[in-house]
Amino acid sequence: MKDTNVKISLIAHSFKNLPAMLAVNIAAALGAAFVVSNHNPSGAWSFFCVVFVLTILRAIKWKQFHDELGRLTSLADERIDYWYRVYGTLLCLTAIAWAFLGAMTLVDSSHEIEYVVMIIMASLAAGATGIAAPLKKAGKLYITLLLLPVGIIFSLHDTMNYYILSGLDFIFLIVMLMTQHKNYLVIRESFSLRDKNTELISDLQDSNNNLEDKVEDRTKQLKNIAHQDALTGIANRRGLMEWMGGNLNKSAAHDAVILFLDLDRFKEINDAKGHDVGDQVLKMATLRFGSCCRDEFLLARWGGDEFVIASKHGASRDVVSTDLAAALMAEIAQPFYINGEELSLGVSIGAAFYPSDADTFTGVIHAADLAAAEVKRTGRGNLIAFDDRFSETQKKRFELSRALGAAIENEEIRIKYQPIVNARTGCIESFEALARWQHAGRDINPEEFIRLAEETDRIVRLGYWVLEQACTTAHSWYAAGNDQKIAVNVSVKQLIAGGFVSHLKGILKQTKLPAEQLKIEVTESVFDDEYKDIIYTAVEQLKGLGIDILIDDFGTGYSSLSRLHEFPISAIKIDRSFINQIHSRGHAIIKSTIQIARSFNLKVVAEGVETVEQASELHAMGVDYFQGYYFKKPTTELEFESFDIDWKKQGERA
Ligand code: C2E
Ligand code: CA
Ligand code: CA
Repeated sequence: MKDTNVKISLIAHSFKNLPAMLAVNIAAALGAAFVVSNHNPSGAWSFFCVVFVLTILRAIKWKQFHDELGRLTSLADERIDYWYRVYGTLLCLTAIAWAFLGAMTLVDSSHEIEYVVMIIMASLAAGATGIAAPLKKAGKLYITLLLLPVGIIFSLHDTMNYYILSGLDFIFLIVMLMTQHKNYLVIRESFSLRDKNTELISDLQDSNNNLEDKVEDRTKQLKNIAHQDALTGIANRRGLMEWMGGNLNKSAAHDAVILFLDLDRFKEINDAKGHDVGDQVLKMATLRFGSCCRDEFLLARWGGDEFVIASKHGASRDVVSTDLAAALMAEIAQPFYINGEELSLGVSIGAAFYPSDADTFTGVIHAADLAAAEVKRTGRGNLIAFDDRFSETQKKRFELSRALGAAIENEEIRIKYQPIVNARTGCIESFEALARWQHAGRDINPEEFIRLAEETDRIVRLGYWVLEQACTTAHSWYAAGNDQKIAVNVSVKQLIAGGFVSHLKGILKQTKLPAEQLKIEVTESVFDDEYKDIIYTAVEQLKGLGIDILIDDFGTGYSSLSRLHEFPISAIKIDRSFINQIHSRGHAIIKSTIQIARSFNLKVVAEGVETVEQASELHAMGVDYFQGYYFKKPTTELEFESFDIDWKKQGERA
């Protein structure tokens, strides 16, 4: 390929030189013919005619060559050879014509004529070293044909002068041939260099083009990756923002609908069943949500278990949001079957409208998020549309969270104690310590501030403070001869924060409370896979100290029951929501919980016992301890007397 290019360049270069060569040749031939015609007119003019015809022919070929080159981008090998042959043949025929003229003249004409012809031919040969340099063979043949016959003819003259001339001619021939060859090499080298350069340049262009394509491809891929959620394949935050940018219009006739979806109970499933199951649930939920979405909706994953649906159609915004939300909730309410297990999920949906609720995309999503948070706060599994008051609620939460940070220093936290009663004897077995926070003149709901403290990790400090206070109080009643134990709630966050057991030992030492007097209540989340090892170690150490561990709110999480025996637990507390429903859905759960507890040799505490009927029924079912308003509300005034167990007889009678 490269050689072909050089060959084309060389022949093209020759043809480029041709007009000049022909002009010189025809002029020289005309001059020579004039001079020679004095001596041999017919020979001279025949010579000129031949040269003239050849010149015409060569001019025609020049034209044809350029036409062909202009038509085609490149020439086939045969065509290149053809043009070499044509050029070379015509060139050499011209030289032969000159050789004949030489032979005709130099034999017996006057010296003057001889010199003129010789000078012309030598000049032509000298010119050919440059002008015919691109042609390796034809160029040399041309020079040889011009000079060799002349030299031979001179040598045939029997005089010294002709010998000298002949010798000079041969030397001249050799020098000319060498010069032509050198020029040929130079010109060829320069063409091949030029060729390499163009090749290099085109290579570079090629790879640049490729590079550009690749960069474009990559950019597209990156964009897809950047705008797509890796797990579910739907749009992520960025994808959502881009879609909103392209599809939502502030000045549109109708509001756009934005729904913020927050899965209910997902965290429990994810914590208890592991992330693999959690991921599967998210994928399945995505499919179900997607099946409710029409083309003009965009479903995006906002993060974790949160999704956003944006719709550009808002002509009937309230209908869109309520109908869509109803469909979404119905879809998600269908049980999820994963690994042969049935899981149930819900969704809390907040709606906001663009631009009437907020005129920025992030603003309207935030508004929908606030509405969803309101759903969560007020009981889950519902749809609520954004209201300006939600921002207020959110702001208050933020302020409350800040105030909680200073609550201990400001002595706003107190502890109330609630007795836990032996179901058989009516004796108070222990007291549960429950934190109370009075802030800005009102009691903050413990559920609320404890959750807030958990979310902000303030629970760790708060938990230690409660533990210390509770142990101090418990020691005071223990020292006075009451052997009731103290049960303290400990958040999983405290257990995993590090140093829990040594910190607790320090508190026991400082308050002088025997370790056996302390019980610790933890929720089912201690069974979660995530911090299994660290929690397991802590629980083992606690047990080693003689501290009882209770599982609080049992039945509300997704704890794997098989885990119960992996931990050295002494009792489970059935959540009060089941006691509440003892005559409906709660009954079976309570019954099976008691069965499980029996088989693991655990005690059972029933929380939230509010009536004597509940107490007697629970006792009949096999519950060991009671806690609830029926006996006593959490209080600061401690009383240690046993409770009357008359209800038991009532229960037995019933
Ligand atoms: P919990 O551990 O399940 O505590 C029992 C809750 O049930 C207490 O609510 C108690 O007042 C309430 N209760 C007791 N008997 C009855 C009854 O008969 N009927 C009704 N309706 N409720 C009853 P409280 O004090 O509002 O505490 C809420 C939750 O806050 C506690 O639930 C516990 O999880 C958490 N908590 C409270 N203090 C602390 C603490 O110091 N540390 C940690 N980590 N959590 C705490
Ligand atoms: Ca508790
Ligand atoms: Ca509880």
